[in-house]
Amino acid sequence: MRTAAREDWSAPGTYEVAKGVYRIPLPLPNDGLRAVNVYVIVGDDGLTCVDSGWALPDSRKLFVEALASLGCGPGEIGRFLVTHVHRDHYTQAIAMRREFATPVSLGGGERAALEVISDPTWDPMPLRLHKLRLDGAARLANKVAAEATERLGSASFDWELPDEWLHEGELVLASGRRLQVVETPGHTRGHVVFHDRAAELLFAGDHVLPTITPSIGFEPVFSPNPLGDFLRSLARVRALSDAMLLPAHGPVAPSVHARIDELVEHHGRRLDQTMAALKAGADTAFEVACQLRWTRRERWLDELDIFNQMLAVSETRAHLSLLVAQGRVTKTLHEAVHRYAATS
Ligand SMILES: [Zn+2]
Repeated sequence: MRTAAREDWSAPGTYEVAKGVYRIPLPLPNDGLRAVNVYVIVGDDGLTCVDSGWALPDSRKLFVEALASLGCGPGEIGRFLVTHVHRDHYTQAIAMRREFATPVSLGGGERAALEVISDPTWDPMPLRLHKLRLDGAARLANKVAAEATERLGSASFDWELPDEWLHEGELVLASGRRLQVVETPGHTRGHVVFHDRAAELLFAGDHVLPTITPSIGFEPVFSPNPLGDFLRSLARVRALSDAMLLPAHGPVAPSVHARIDELVEHHGRRLDQTMAALKAGADTAFEVACQLRWTRRERWLDELDIFNQMLAVSETRAHLSLLVAQGRVTKTLHEAVHRYAATS
């Protein structure tokens, strides 16, 4: 009943995934991810949370209920360890810090993105639209612009810096539990995962997801080769001892290694398809994206909603950038659009 299990992972509740470690799925307002998992580590020292959820009333209510089922309240959370700056992971920690002064830690590589999004006058749209136009997707950019006000209207949040920037290294909780902080740029530039070697657990955030591939290169501060970053980060995590996968979206899975192997294979296939599309005549990120199939349902680009079309084009750009970095593809700017061509 694999399908049923996949449908159920987001059902509200408190699920013990390992001794003293609980998964708490919390709701998201508007996207296909359905929920975000917060992991609560219960120790002698109190509670440590990995990720925090999106600061929304429904999410907060379910979070407090889930903590109550563990006999705790939100004031007993000793710290938040946040895998990356996206609002479904970071904002509830900040909201709770305002009430309970709970310390919040975030990967040091997120500083640049956080400084950009913290600026109340910052609007992500002009840069997104500019990128889409460079990708040869001017019509899609116009549709995105038309939908933008509606989508972003409810999303305002007073961003704040964390108490602590995390870097590569070991973190010892007061309970004695040791978490290896591993920097895993790709999904975002400052993404980190937490490896509990002794308990064979990986708190993976969005770096390794069990049923989908994380979006790549969709952030305010661009890496020149986000997919290259991501694949290098996968290799780094693959080199750690294997662990149970505790993802931020989706059900817990038995082996990080097995899932990374699948992801690497997926991107290899995607790179081959991207090359094939270029050889068949596509020469912009948008045209390549139109030739590829999307989601597990193998949809065409124009069958996706506008937001996911934008993600798909940005992911295609990430694949093209990696091929350029590998010397398999050339990129030129022609009439304000990036054109790509296979070198062989
Ligand atoms: Zn996420």
